[in-house]
Amino acid sequence: MKLLEEKILKDGQIYPGNVLKVGSFLNHQIDVPFLMNIGREFYNKFKDENITKIITIESSGIAIACLTATFFNVPIIFAKKTQTLNLADDVYSASVHSYTHNNDYTARIEKRFLTSHDRILIIDDFLANGAALMGLIDIVSQAGASLAGCGVVIEKVFQGGGNALREKGICVESLAQIEKMTDEGEIFFV
Ligand code: 5GP
Repeated sequence: MKLLEEKILKDGQIYPGNVLKVGSFLNHQIDVPFLMNIGREFYNKFKDENITKIITIESSGIAIACLTATFFNVPIIFAKKTQTLNLADDVYSASVHSYTHNNDYTARIEKRFLTSHDRILIIDDFLANGAALMGLIDIVSQAGASLAGCGVVIEKVFQGGGNALREKGICVESLAQIEKMTDEGEIFFV
């Protein structure tokens, strides 16, 4: 997606640990009309898949998933990262290693929201090593739901998660694929 690449080049900041910050439109301030375009792109890629629900992980995935869901006219479910009092005990869960915080957390979705009749599209902002998507895929399979695929806004291809998932036969669609980032702040797309 050309416009997305242009926005990354214009606003993206590279931090230690190969972390790209795009806080001006995706991770902090949210450019809603632009995310509508992103949602439309995901819709065009998965529109024939009879999607019944979109799953993401809090917090940055939520806005992207919501705007994507307006095209599919389906609900979104976001996996919670903490066990809050208002979260039921009856949950599907998966342990995930956080790329940006370098710790492990448990992603949880209440069982009542996911059934074996569901056809799922997973959405996330970034794909690095693939841990977040693997956790969500695990939850989808615990529910016996079927997975149509994963839609990612920015894939850092050099970190290998996307290709590892594709080798397992999972459909992963990324709207921008970064081949390389340098300490000097250069970003190269595939
Ligand atoms: P993975 O689980 O694939 O290693 O990392 C993906 C998750 O970590 C995403 O949910 C995203 O929130 C976060 N993440 C990974 N790399 C980056 C990055 O370069 N920038 C930002 N903002 N988040 C990232």
